[in-house]
Amino acid sequence: MDAMIPAGKSASGLCPDCHQLHTGIAPVLGASAPDDWLAVSRGERMESELTPDICILTDDGRTRHFLRGHLQMPVLDGPPPVFVWSVWVELDHHSMEQVARWWTNPNRAAIPPIEGRLANELPYEKATGGLAITVHTRDPGLAPLLIVSEDHALATEQRQGVSVHRIAELGSLLQRA
Ligand SMILES: [Zn+2]
Repeated sequence: MDAMIPAGKSASGLCPDCHQLHTGIAPVLGASAPDDWLAVSRGERMESELTPDICILTDDGRTRHFLRGHLQMPVLDGPPPVFVWSVWVELDHHSMEQVARWWTNPNRAAIPPIEGRLANELPYEKATGGLAITVHTRDPGLAPLLIVSEDHALATEQRQGVSVHRIAELGSLLQRA
């Protein structure tokens, strides 16, 4: 976790959970790179590539492939209507080739869902790095949608939704991490 993506939007009224006013709730939080981007040596990073959407990482002589996507959660008492973890997913070589082939195709949302692994630690009690993720590509210009496909608190929150209070908490946990 090395960067937050700021976006300010104020919730109005006092929070039913903590009776405080949550201002400056960030509807999008996340990481600007896969966690392992910072774990490799500087020399390896120089041989690697990082764009806002894709990361090709040289790691101990291996080439690893990552895609950034949006892990969305409904907000039960928004605005905002949706909270987004903007995070990275590691794909195998074959899947990445498929994504690359389709990336600029206007029909890229038609690619079948792809399986990957979450490549960022998020502030949950159980580790999130390595969680199974299903990637659904969307039309060009829209980040792929990520669905947690194994049992975890992150999956539960994605399915059931989160409160504005919880988003504020996630934001402060992320800053402390
Ligand atoms: Zn609150």
